[in-house]
Amino acid sequence: MARKPVGSRRTAVPRLTLAERRAAESHRVDALLTRLDREFPDANCALGHDSPFQLLVATILSAQCTDERVNRTTPALFAKFPTAEGLARASQAEVEQIVKPLGFFRAKAKNLREMAHALVEQHGGEVPATLEELVRLPGVGRKTANVVLGVSFGVAVGVVVDTHVKRISKLLGLTRQSDPVKVEQDLISRLPQEKWILFSHQLILHGRKTCIARRPKCEGCPLLEWCPRTGLAPLVSSAPVDASRAR
Ligand code: SF4
Repeated sequence: MARKPVGSRRTAVPRLTLAERRAAESHRVDALLTRLDREFPDANCALGHDSPFQLLVATILSAQCTDERVNRTTPALFAKFPTAEGLARASQAEVEQIVKPLGFFRAKAKNLREMAHALVEQHGGEVPATLEELVRLPGVGRKTANVVLGVSFGVAVGVVVDTHVKRISKLLGLTRQSDPVKVEQDLISRLPQEKWILFSHQLILHGRKTCIARRPKCEGCPLLEWCPRTGLAPLVSSAPVDASRAR
């Protein structure tokens, strides 16, 4: 059966003015967001937590580690050290013993204890709700701060860029950057602010379900119509070519 490449319509696109290109791109991004909303209307953070403090701890622990593994470890940690005060008093060995299965456990335990100390000394044991204050805490970078601000406080000051968000944003043609801070800047400039929090959760779910690293299931992807699949080989359709048109 003859096979034809698909996704090559772009070569025949007539010249558009800058304004027309911008309008078309805006329409494309709107369509992507609409489909993500349809696909993942209730997307949320997968890290188990009952408070901003617990979410902050879980997010620090999730570096270089899956959410599932973090969720298997944090119940024991939160049971033993439910507050910043408790964690600040914990010994390095006590924390290391619990977080050992997560990798980088010495650094993570140290960051958690120092972060808890800073919370107690500078914020009365409470998690602050501003980016500036959060990123001054030990072990807290912009990504972790964005997670806590978005999930616990509903504050959208940026877009959480993890490996899924970085990879899929490139495939979707929303950025050409690899540095997470630059990817975030591109997403901030291209997405409406009311979507900044939800978009990350949706892309993370999409990356687990369909746009899987190294084996994206493009054929059945709900975003295919609007996705340039940047950097991927053209898809090959199994639909038969009309012989009369092929001559
Ligand atoms: S069409 Fe393919 S590359 Fe684009 S989002 Fe879907 S699975 Fe990922």
